[in-house]
Amino acid sequence: AKAKGKNNYQFFSTDMTFVTSSKLVLENDLRRAFSNEEFFLHYQPQVCASSGDVIGMEALIRWQKAEGTIVSPAEFIPLAEETRLILPIGEWVLYTACKQVKEWHNSGYPHLKLAVNLSPLQFLQDDLLETISLVLATTHFPAALLELEITESVALDDAEKAISRMHALRKMGIQMAIDDFGTGYSSLNYLKRFPLNNLKIAQPFVQDMTTNPYDKALVEAMIFIAHSFDMSVIAEGVETEEQLALLKELGCDEIQGYLFSRPLPADRFTQLLVTGFPS
Ligand code: C2E
Ligand code: CA
Ligand code: CA
Repeated sequence: AKAKGKNNYQFFSTDMTFVTSSKLVLENDLRRAFSNEEFFLHYQPQVCASSGDVIGMEALIRWQKAEGTIVSPAEFIPLAEETRLILPIGEWVLYTACKQVKEWHNSGYPHLKLAVNLSPLQFLQDDLLETISLVLATTHFPAALLELEITESVALDDAEKAISRMHALRKMGIQMAIDDFGTGYSSLNYLKRFPLNNLKIAQPFVQDMTTNPYDKALVEAMIFIAHSFDMSVIAEGVETEEQLALLKELGCDEIQGYLFSRPLPADRFTQLLVTGFPS
């Protein structure tokens, strides 16, 4: 028997009734969360490896229920995709993040790049380009400072469609990044055909690279390949000085991780821009 369903809900467990209803509860909560305004964003700094300067940030959604419980995006994003609620949620994320980062641009940090995650469903929507154009126009956000993070899975069903969509976004001046690189199925095959600006090395490689020579070799190879394709490289999940030193030695361009900062609410991010990282 299959132990786990697509989204780790145990559809075929003996305790099926309980599992099914808890999923339904979560789905209902999710619908209400949106109208109850229970979502907010955190921003995690992305730092230049050589200078230590904040170059930009990744927007990450947070859900805190009215009674206080926090639900992790790893738990509710898959359900949001399944129920297509990710479409309004994703649009809200894009709009809210552009509006916030535009404020930072206006208050003396005009260079900051904003990275936003796009779920595959969102990325493949027919009206994606119109939606993004509208958000950029409404918030006066410069396309060149917006980076969309996608995963290889966008190409699972129809690679041609995904690739032409990436080209269309690039034509708008938007930057494209591949997220969680190295964890999907045919990374190298797609890499030569995806018009990408940035490659994000997935956390597990970064976290094991200082203890496992094979992970170190893989990170080195990913950086080499990305640079050969004129892409810059960002390492995520960087938690230690040792990882940072090794990544710099291997020529990694940008760093994101708890070592510099956890994802922060907007007001704390503003504070960080003003005071810099605590030493
Ligand atoms: P992701 O896009 O790979 O985001 C990076 C995750 O790693 C974030 O988890 C972040 O908080 C965490 N992280 C950052 N630095 C470190 C570190 O040094 N160590 C460790 N252990 N973790 C670190 P988070 O915020 O819980 O998000 C989980 C996933 O949920 C994201 O993975 C992304 O796939 C999805 N997600 C989050 N926000 C959005 C969103 O607005 N839209 C969509 N479609 N997906 C989102
Ligand atoms: Ca991401
Ligand atoms: Ca990632």
